Amino acid sequence: MPTKNGALVATWSRQNPETGEIEFALEKEDFEKVLQGYACGTCLADYGGVYLKKCPVCGEDRVQSELVVPQWWTERSII
Ligand SMILES: [Zn+2]
Repeated sequence: MPTKNGALVATWSRQNPETGEIEFALEKEDFEKVLQGYACGTCLADYGGVYLKKCPVCGEDRVQSELVVPQWWTERSII
């Protein structure tokens, strides 16, 4: 997938009006990277194929994978 400044590109995002948290969706390939620890689920930094336990960009420990939704989910649910 194309990356922007070494970061994954979200296909969709919004700020949750109830929690104030940023939610986003990724291409399946990028989603897998986040789940497997090869990219950050908070700032979307792509680690370049290296598994990292802690994000070097934002300092976040492992992804909260529940905040990341696959694109097919958004295609069914959004708008
Ligand atoms: Zn990060």
